[in-house]
Amino acid sequence: MPTQFDPPSGTRDFLASDWEFRESAFGRIRSVFARYGFEPLVTPSFERLDVLLGKYGDDGDKLIFKILRRGEHEETGEADLALRYDHTVPLARVAAAYGSQLPTPYKRYAIGPVWRADRPGRGRYREFTQCDLDTLGSTSVMADAEVVLAAHDALAELGLTGFRFLINSRHVLAGLLEGFGVPAELGPSVLITLDKLDKLTPAEVSAELAGRDLPDDTAAALVGALTGPVEQVRDALKASEEGAAGIEEVDELLSLLAGQVPAGRMVFTPRLVRGLSYYTGPIWEIVADGIPGSLAGGGRYDHLIEQLGGPDVPATGGALGVERILMALPDHDRAHSRLDVAVTVMDERYAARSFSFAAAARAAGLRASVYLGSSGKLGSQLKWASRTGARWALIYGSAEDEANTVTVRDMTSGEQAAVPVSELTSYLAGLADAAGLPGPS
Ligand code: AMP
Repeated sequence: MPTQFDPPSGTRDFLASDWEFRESAFGRIRSVFARYGFEPLVTPSFERLDVLLGKYGDDGDKLIFKILRRGEHEETGEADLALRYDHTVPLARVAAAYGSQLPTPYKRYAIGPVWRADRPGRGRYREFTQCDLDTLGSTSVMADAEVVLAAHDALAELGLTGFRFLINSRHVLAGLLEGFGVPAELGPSVLITLDKLDKLTPAEVSAELAGRDLPDDTAAALVGALTGPVEQVRDALKASEEGAAGIEEVDELLSLLAGQVPAGRMVFTPRLVRGLSYYTGPIWEIVADGIPGSLAGGGRYDHLIEQLGGPDVPATGGALGVERILMALPDHDRAHSRLDVAVTVMDERYAARSFSFAAAARAAGLRASVYLGSSGKLGSQLKWASRTGARWALIYGSAEDEANTVTVRDMTSGEQAAVPVSELTSYLAGLADAAGLPGPS
């Protein structure tokens, strides 16, 4: 049962260990994208409502979080702004706004939260993070291959192994509809139903197709082909010019990817549709056993930027859904260290000195904090040091004051060393280096 202190349904609070885990994943993904030559683009969390409306289809539009007008206009009850739904439409707005100032091709990535008024469920949130990468300005299938490879390498970099890419082309789908004699006007709705082949049984999908006025035998043949051996689909597609072009496109993409990824990880999947109608060429999704829905998805959308008010540039891209990717990773170690160096305060008279010891530790690139409690007992302060996960504690009492040294205690072994005050930073830097911790920046 949710309580009054839970965050709104479909959103989460992230305490330190979860946040650091996410941040490190974002950092790795970012570095893979950067190594492929994609550059960052950061857009606002909210956009004007008219920029977003009408871009995601009727169902998508309903999921946009709208922001009511404020101030004197509040009473109208109208919305004029909306939270970002994905990173693709903001990219299109940027392409329209900056046009020729952007490099050609423009390879950019965006990592950040997006918001959808979805029904929350396992792996389905209302606030979640997408890592998006797109190339504008290239019609070459090499651009599609590059996006797929960068997405692949990002998952591999995170240590994920059991994932597969489902690969198809919109031309394959169009060729199939043509080959099986599906009337053109039924095409879009037939595709929407075929998209359900991963959730419904073939019989259920055939029944739904029949309900869409498709003759029973056509529906059965189409579903039979898509759930049967892929070779049969290849044969069937030869009959249609668009279908043959689709197969050629898929094969070209697969051959570009073949040398770069383990065999069997990229699978031609003729039944993959991807809901949005704006795709115009290769489409793909990443799936993993036991994870609901897809980990990522994308494809080529050559005229979307123009539809969105930008220049008519070809485009291809995809979005990694971080939540499902992190779900697929082994549970991370929740033991979380907050400090490297815990500085005790054995006497109020030495408080200012303790501050300078903490500063010396920070100068060595370490996380350090002084004891802020009220106990003057060493035992209590060492307990605090241990709870912070600190590797070293600094102790400075009257004996140290007299000798002008600081006692550096190794919190794991209990060993102690007397270090001259003036050498503290270099001593700690040496310890940090030996322990493989990052040094001063
Ligand atoms: P889309 O923009 O709908 O193509 O989604 C791209 C990726 O974002 C998907 O493959 C999912 O990993 C992720 N995703 C989409 N919707 C949600 C959601 N409601 N909660 C969490 N992740 C999502």
